[in-house]
Amino acid sequence: MGVFDYILRVIFPPRCIFCGELLEPTKEDICFCEKCRSVWEQEKESPCPCCRQIPENCVCGLQYNKSRTLDSCRCLVNYESENVKKLIFGVKDSENKALFGFIARELEMLIFRKADLSGDCVVAYPQRSVKAKKKHGHDQAELLAAAIGKDLGISVYNGIKNKNGKEQKNLPEKVRGENAYNSYFIPDNYKDELKGKNVILIDDIVTTGATAVTCAALCKLNGAASVSCFCIARTPKKIDPKGGSK
Ligand SMILES: [Zn+2]
Ligand SMILES: [Zn+2]
Repeated sequence: MGVFDYILRVIFPPRCIFCGELLEPTKEDICFCEKCRSVWEQEKESPCPCCRQIPENCVCGLQYNKSRTLDSCRCLVNYESENVKKLIFGVKDSENKALFGFIARELEMLIFRKADLSGDCVVAYPQRSVKAKKKHGHDQAELLAAAIGKDLGISVYNGIKNKNGKEQKNLPEKVRGENAYNSYFIPDNYKDELKGKNVILIDDIVTTGATAVTCAALCKLNGAASVSCFCIARTPKKIDPKGGSK
């Protein structure tokens, strides 16, 4: 770590993402205390309340993916516990390099296990609106995609642009599809880069799938062979108290 980063860490020692305990400032790339590191492993093994599979094997369909435009969606953890919510908040709002590095590596391992990397691949992400980027200070999906592309030696596709749509999390589920449709586009000068590509789409959180499915449709319209989404967390399907699920 550079001198500046070192001094910063000594003055403001990093805290555990989950429990808030102060961490050893001289240790690089650590975002959990020892106890919470195993809590993270438990989160990855905690079954989806709907299909009972562990998160990375969850087979629940996405609300907006009825046409199966998106070929698959894999996540590291369920978006359920307070710990996972804190972690997502940290990725959205902080410049915590250790956390970004950790999550990028976790996603890389998930991609290695679950993606077909034999063909011609690109790593892509849905761009945040200018307003959202300004509010949060950075574009978390862009940063993760850049780190993952670099580590896996796969080129990063920057063509899924945002027309300054609203942030999905503030909208009711019913209008998210429409908002995603109105938010994303691929400019003409980026269209040729997708022909025949297997797109690895990176996002932080998937709820209804409106964003991921819209991105998949845009990629496929421009010749992508497949689109697979890899996200940090996915909101489990709601379980209907009468028995079924929706
Ligand atoms: Zn902790
Ligand atoms: Zn599931």
